[in-house]
Amino acid sequence: MDCPHCASTVEATWTEIASPSDGVVVYHVEWMTCPACDRGILKASAQDRGLRRRKDAERILVPVAPSRPVARGVPEPYASLFTEAARTVVDSPRASAALSRLCLKRLLEEVAGAPVGSLSEQLEWAITESEIPPPVRLPLHRIRAAGGILPLSPSSDRPDQLGEVVPSEAETNLDGLERLFSHFFPPSASPAR
Ligand SMILES: [Zn+2]
Repeated sequence: MDCPHCASTVEATWTEIASPSDGVVVYHVEWMTCPACDRGILKASAQDRGLRRRKDAERILVPVAPSRPVARGVPEPYASLFTEAARTVVDSPRASAALSRLCLKRLLEEVAGAPVGSLSEQLEWAITESEIPPPVRLPLHRIRAAGGILPLSPSSDRPDQLGEVVPSEAETNLDGLERLFSHFFPPSASPAR
């Protein structure tokens, strides 16, 4: 599993600390400490009596939202769009993906200099014609593939609209945006605080 504090990949070593039941559903509350960052993680899950635990009913209670702080020096509106997309990724991957696609479109248009057009056209421009270096283009390929951002697709014409998402799409968008941020707004260029 990936630690929601530090994102390190660590072995899941949950200890059950409570398992109250209302007679129909058993609630499991589990705790572990991340061996990488020593911070605690609290998880709850619900299980119908007599059935195996359903993984999709698991929820991390602490930390409240997965940590994905926006890097210093990332200006508005990109910082706010990214932060909102990161906060909603667990509860609503569709909303998160819509926000991150909007952030990507504005970033490509306003910072990278992409011509006005659909997101699909702008991604094609960024990947084939822009001066964005190849390692930074890779996440653009991934975002395009994960979101099916193709000519005439809804996610291309109206990137900020809610649409169906595959499970990894919202996270792929956030990973890609982080990479683009570090390219366009390098940490060393940000003013000291
Ligand atoms: Zn950790």
